[in-house]
Amino acid sequence: MSFPPQVAEQVLVDCARHCCICHKFCGVKIELHHITPVSEGGENTYDNCIPLCLDCHAEVLSYNPKHPKGRKYTNSELRRHRDRWYEKVKKSHGTIINSDYTELDREVFLQIREILPSTGSIQFIRSHPWGAAFPLEKMNQLYRFLDRCARPEFEFIDADLEGIRASLEEAIEIFCATIGVYTFPVYNRLGWNNVPIDRGFPQAQQHDKITSELTDLSDAVCAKYDESIRLGRRKLIVY
Ligand SMILES: [Zn+2]
Repeated sequence: MSFPPQVAEQVLVDCARHCCICHKFCGVKIELHHITPVSEGGENTYDNCIPLCLDCHAEVLSYNPKHPKGRKYTNSELRRHRDRWYEKVKKSHGTIINSDYTELDREVFLQIREILPSTGSIQFIRSHPWGAAFPLEKMNQLYRFLDRCARPEFEFIDADLEGIRASLEEAIEIFCATIGVYTFPVYNRLGWNNVPIDRGFPQAQQHDKITSELTDLSDAVCAKYDESIRLGRRKLIVY
């Protein structure tokens, strides 16, 4: 006998498909365990059910009282794990599940917004026509961001956020490298660079090719940036 569909649905929603013991997200790899086994009169009720990942479920089941190893999960302990986890999910309003490391991730997110605000380098490269000269200092925040990325603590623990942070870093790296290779100081204008038409690039065709590449690369940086900010705000509830 297994849990009726309404009970299964309710527990899966209440645990947000995370294991109630180790708290990892399980997706379809989740099982519903009878806290009091059916063989001992346990019922198919909401209260007698705890959602577990395959590993934790195997561990809970594998305890053999004839050959005790480690410490058995007691029924009341399982209920407490479950109730605590349900409570956590409820408080998170369905957005933050792994609240143990939310604070750490929020810290990284705030640093990104401080180093790379949407009003600085990002705003500049979003609209600059790369055929025209630009002040190099407008790139400073991008370099500062890359510097910070070299630090191991500047990483999200959440896999989705870290994936986007890493791809933002990569997009900025490629963009900055291209600026470094294909733009040169403008004569008589200290601190300004451009893609020269006549110096080193005799053909205007080359000039157009490079400016359109810079446009594509800066668009890619802005797209990744927007994606990180949107996801970060949603996952971490940051204003
Ligand atoms: Zn587990």
